[in-house]
Amino acid sequence: METITSSKQAIQLEERYGAHNYHPLPVVLTRGEGVYLWDVEGKKYFDFLSAYSAVNQGHCHPRIKDAMIEQVGTLTLTSRAFYNDVLGPFEKYITEYFGFDMVLPMNTGAEGVETALKLARKWGYERKGVAENKAKIIVAENNFHGRTTTIISFSNDANARKSFGPFTDGFIRIPYDDIVALEQALEIEGVVGFLIEPIQGEAGVYVPEEDYMRKAKAACAAQNVLLIADEIQTGIARTGSLLAVCGNCTCEAHCEKQETYAKPDILILGKAISGGFYPVSAVLADREVMEVIKPGQHGSTFGGNPLGAKVAMAALEVVRDEKLAQNARKLGEIFRNRMRKMVDRNPIAKLVRGRGLLNAVVINDSPDSTTAWDICIQLAENGLLAKPTHGNIIRFAPPLVITEDQLHECCDIIERVISNFNK
Ligand SMILES: *Cc1c(COP(=O)(O)O)cnc(C)c1O
Repeated sequence: METITSSKQAIQLEERYGAHNYHPLPVVLTRGEGVYLWDVEGKKYFDFLSAYSAVNQGHCHPRIKDAMIEQVGTLTLTSRAFYNDVLGPFEKYITEYFGFDMVLPMNTGAEGVETALKLARKWGYERKGVAENKAKIIVAENNFHGRTTTIISFSNDANARKSFGPFTDGFIRIPYDDIVALEQALEIEGVVGFLIEPIQGEAGVYVPEEDYMRKAKAACAAQNVLLIADEIQTGIARTGSLLAVCGNCTCEAHCEKQETYAKPDILILGKAISGGFYPVSAVLADREVMEVIKPGQHGSTFGGNPLGAKVAMAALEVVRDEKLAQNARKLGEIFRNRMRKMVDRNPIAKLVRGRGLLNAVVINDSPDSTTAWDICIQLAENGLLAKPTHGNIIRFAPPLVITEDQLHECCDIIERVISNFNK
């Protein structure tokens, strides 16, 4: 392997040998610890992306690392042709943790979404009595659920879709945060599921009305339609509660008693479920839904492997033991308060929105401008890594282990860069 001695050299290698399916900021990282990242020149940064909320527990968390090291020298992969002695304990742990009867483990988020779609369709045919091949699933405008051919079939992002057709049928797209539109769509024959992000992350951190998910749940239940929550980005403490569907509740486990809790029929998790160590995703549901899947009908060579299962249990333990949801809630308030004041003083920034530590600052310029990108470049020069989404929106999502002092230091950097920014 070629030894990397400079950022320039690493970037050139990626340019030359790697597919250009991403457009990264020109920073080459070599080490991470907690909220910090270091580049190959030794410069230290605050991470305000957290790998799209996959490292809520902070980089290289020692407890997750130890669990991984222990398992990596014992047993890593058996396939599901046999049982292994970690999967069962993991399944018990995660279902109790999130309050569901059963789980189907996969690897990436997109696979989790695909699993949920297949599960909802099969349930629709075999339990609801929908005519074969007539099942429909409702989705929201500006959704992001991953990159497979079926998932991009119901995206309305032209860049994600163009020249990748033909697409998968059976989806109905409605406006986000619009209960009337949902109620109307639920009347259409053959609807089996409503797939929704409780907060739209990739679209630019769009937070719906406070009671949107609860009303959506009631509307779905009234029509015998499954509510499918994609909490791959919002889940696992990011938005100040264990799941975004928990609304205002910060208890450490789910309970039906919370009137704010819109329990989904199918819950999709990924990203932070493994704290950034190993790809793990999971689809949770109660028995009546999950039992429609029989042997041979769905699977994955790596899904449910002992290494991923061990890592995921450690990552979830960290979230609970270190009270990351509570920290995200408290520091999120502080962040938005400081950013609101910053926005008031700086015409280049338009607004701040978010929940917990999933926030975005909207830049006062066209989505086609490079202003947000240029601000992110200057943030990086000043020691803070964030990335624009959809042109003029900057998402700010640090690891949830960040302390109040560190957060204030980061707000200082953001304020300084934005106040001094000249186009
Ligand atoms: C990241 C993400 C996905 C896709 O996860 P991958 O692991 O990248 O396949 C799906 N849904 C949401 C809401 C996401 O943020």
